[in-house]
Amino acid sequence: MKVCKFGGTSMATARSVTNVKNIVGSDPERKYIIVSAPGKRFSGDTKVTDLLYAAYAEQKERGSCAETLAEIRQRFESLSEELGVEHDWKREFDEIASGIAASTTSDYAASRGEYLSGILTAKALGLEFIDAAEIIKFRADGSFDAHLTDDLVRKRCSHCASGVVIPGFYGRMPDRTIKTFTRGGSDFTGAIIARGVGAEIYENWTDVDGFMVTDPRIVSDPKLIEVLSYEELRELSYMGASVLHPDSVFPVQTDGIPINIRNTFAPEKNGTLILKDVSGYERPLVTGIAGRKGNVNITIKKAMMNSEVGFCRKVLSVIERYGLNVEHVPTGIDTMSVVISDLKTKGVPAEKLLDDIRLMVDPDHIEMTASMALIAVVGHGMANTKGTAAKIFNALYAAGVNVRMIDQGSSELNIIIGVEDDDYDRALKAIYGAFFG
Ligand code: ASP
Repeated sequence: MKVCKFGGTSMATARSVTNVKNIVGSDPERKYIIVSAPGKRFSGDTKVTDLLYAAYAEQKERGSCAETLAEIRQRFESLSEELGVEHDWKREFDEIASGIAASTTSDYAASRGEYLSGILTAKALGLEFIDAAEIIKFRADGSFDAHLTDDLVRKRCSHCASGVVIPGFYGRMPDRTIKTFTRGGSDFTGAIIARGVGAEIYENWTDVDGFMVTDPRIVSDPKLIEVLSYEELRELSYMGASVLHPDSVFPVQTDGIPINIRNTFAPEKNGTLILKDVSGYERPLVTGIAGRKGNVNITIKKAMMNSEVGFCRKVLSVIERYGLNVEHVPTGIDTMSVVISDLKTKGVPAEKLLDDIRLMVDPDHIEMTASMALIAVVGHGMANTKGTAAKIFNALYAAGVNVRMIDQGSSELNIIIGVEDDDYDRALKAIYGAFFG
């Protein structure tokens, strides 16, 4: 049987939910339906999950979130009316208001979008509703409990003769409080259910035709990736391709369950197939090109650095203390650079970090820039193929892009290039043009 996850845009309007109903109804194998919270209905609209995070913040600041909850309730009431679904939304929202007031984290509030979306979809499709809190479990330390979850999914789902709807994004802690995955985590829920029920395929229904070779906001009308490996998916989504949550691979990879990205608004298209083993497929040399801007680069210089045993470890230990992710560490004889992606998002004070590194290793010079874009060129086809790097760097040279950093993974699955943020768009277009133009 198939597990189908529908994203926020598929849940946003009565029309899109009707598409979902038709898609599910057209294949009796589509038995397990995982849903996101309603997303944007039009550009400039707000996702229900974002409204719920705002509601939690208002509750904590002002002691009430009644207005925002009324706005969300209105969304569900009109969806329900248009779809001809009866439900006591007042009772649900009264319960949610007191639940948010009693919460100490935003997780419960954030999860309610998926919860309500699950109830609505189950009624609209005439399927059973299973609350994710019953089957998706976390340990007391907040980590996801795959073992217990697998067990519960298997037991609970073996009783389901016909289809079921399960909300994505959240589960329950041993103390019975609700905990969410990271943003976009309904993709992960879908993968967990796919493994638990031993699905033949995990269909992930979204609002695009699949994975594009590169970012369509920068390169107009890029080619679609028809087949992608789990490893390539990890690389591309980590580097910014946002179609699927990067962790979605983990639950399905041991059993090799294929993931199929499909478009709810164009169900006739085959989408992108993500597989454990892509060796039987005819594919281009480069599978995808992704990247992200605004990385921080710290450069440290010190005479005779190369003979100072433990220098790198000392620098990295300071960065570790701040809980930052190190992306790359290019080194020279007397220089070392560290590329970090999350300094701004984690709110780490840059001057304080530099001072701590100064104290630790007493460098001759240290500087920080926050304008490095990283681009990953990804593809199994590049391994043992001569000329791939030459093609990339010739294209960048011809486009007048200065390369600030190069890193090739030892598996030859990716080549990472660091360029100035201002050169990012040009670089992406040039590399795309070299392989797909
Ligand atoms: N609704 C959640 C979010 O906006 C989770 C999801 O849609 O996957 O991140």
